[in-house]
Amino acid sequence: MDKEVRFITEPAKALPVRMTTDVLVVGGGPSGIIAAQAAADDGLKVALIESRSFLGGNMTIGLPVLGFLGQKGNQIISGLPQKFIDRLRVLDAASEHRPCPLHMGITLVEPEAVKSVAFDMLRESGVEVLLYTFFAGVIMDGDHLKGIIIESKAGREAILAKVVIDCTGDADVAFRAGVPCEKGNESGGMQPPTLMFSLGDVDTEKLRLSIAGEPRTYLTDFIPAEYFGQNRQYILVGMRNIMQKAKEDGLSLPTERTIVITGLKKGEAWINMTRVNGVDGTDPVSLTQGELISRQQINDIFRYLVSYVPGFENARMLRTAPFLGIRETRRIVGRYVMKREDILSCARFDDAIAVASYPIDIHHPSGGDCTLEWSGDCYDIPYRSLVPLKVRNLLVAGRSISTTHEAMSAIRVMAPCMAMGEAAGRAAKLAVHDGVTPAEINVAKLQNELRTTGAYLRS
Ligand SMILES: Cc1cc2nc3c(=O)[nH]c(=O)nc-3n(C[C@H](O)[C@H](O)[C@H](O)COP(=O)(O)OP(=O)(O)OC[C@H]3O[C@@H](n4cnc5c(N)ncnc54)[C@H](O)[C@@H]3O)c2cc1C
Repeated sequence: MDKEVRFITEPAKALPVRMTTDVLVVGGGPSGIIAAQAAADDGLKVALIESRSFLGGNMTIGLPVLGFLGQKGNQIISGLPQKFIDRLRVLDAASEHRPCPLHMGITLVEPEAVKSVAFDMLRESGVEVLLYTFFAGVIMDGDHLKGIIIESKAGREAILAKVVIDCTGDADVAFRAGVPCEKGNESGGMQPPTLMFSLGDVDTEKLRLSIAGEPRTYLTDFIPAEYFGQNRQYILVGMRNIMQKAKEDGLSLPTERTIVITGLKKGEAWINMTRVNGVDGTDPVSLTQGELISRQQINDIFRYLVSYVPGFENARMLRTAPFLGIRETRRIVGRYVMKREDILSCARFDDAIAVASYPIDIHHPSGGDCTLEWSGDCYDIPYRSLVPLKVRNLLVAGRSISTTHEAMSAIRVMAPCMAMGEAAGRAAKLAVHDGVTPAEINVAKLQNELRTTGAYLRS
């Protein structure tokens, strides 16, 4: 019998160079769109590739943007991320930053508008955007990253760049280039993914007034009942007791907590309650299983909401999010690894490039619960955590910067990811202008540019 063929050799071939650019951003999520804009600020040639048909990444799956406000209620992220929200607000596609006792600040955004505004802003900044284009490999000269290989309907091509910024969320570029990467907690367990879905005809007024009026029946986590009496747009987290009853009645629910996010449109609510433990977001087989199982979970979650939660009696399914939301995959090992203690001690760093305040928020890799720990104030994100070990001409921004599993659970929310994008984009620009690698830039100059262009850093 023939032996099973396990490997084949891909023949070497000459690839067409699609473009040569100063700065190349890989991934068009919250960190990538802001990184590209920042890099293009004073006329450099900047390109961004994105594997999907739209920009926005996780900002298009029905999540509120968290992290603009700190634990003391002050705004700690401004600059280009704020300009992005301002553009959405002109279209009534974003709320103001609303204080929230559990999440510090929530900013509701309309996913469809995010896709269009991101595209408009990048085109206005002169960024060349290539959608439907997958990062497929790296072009190395020793430890020097000279560009990447892309794969699309046009086949395999190369893009050459002076600096590459990896904003894939999964550290795809860094990993392939040979940067040391880590995944998950000490036993490799990663936070589970969630397929978000939205419902229409939800009476969100009835829901909040029921919580405010009957707080002993509808128990919420951390957020006091009075909050729901005062706020028409909100995130509900809790109702563990009601879910327990539904489980005893035979429903299969994958989480311990009801999580409902009111939409910007009347009667719309986004549900953050599917959860598939053990999924590896860098493995297509595992991702496929995650999609399949989370779709199956929606049936009982929908039944639960309609039968047990006030305001959902007439709810109808509107849509599932365009993809399974991945909370955690690879993290690079960079020149500094942010740790749990940095978050909880409100660490300050000489090379701070952003300020964040979101708590440690770990959806447990197994079971259905979550751990939250607050520091009481803000912490800095150091530039060194965006600079990978071992590979030159590469920066990383977004959820896969250099952190531990615990610190990642705090810095991963979208406002800090956008702020990291801004810092990485401006750092790449400085590196190109000064003819140095990102690791060699003058960080004081970067901080000065961030401050003068409107970003917030502590004095
Ligand atoms: C279920 C869930 C709930 C969450 N809740 C909140 C919340 O309420 N508020 C909040 O602020 N944050 C929340 N987060 C966290 C937050 O959404 C992410 O951590 C954040 O979006 C990360 O931003 P990013 O730019 O690093 O990556 P992403 O948003 O993941 O964007 C990465 C982009 O890169 C593209 N890409 C990836 N690989 C490639 C490739 N190989 N080639 C080309 N393109 C590629 C992707 O298509 C995507 O557009 C949640 C996350 C999940 C999954």
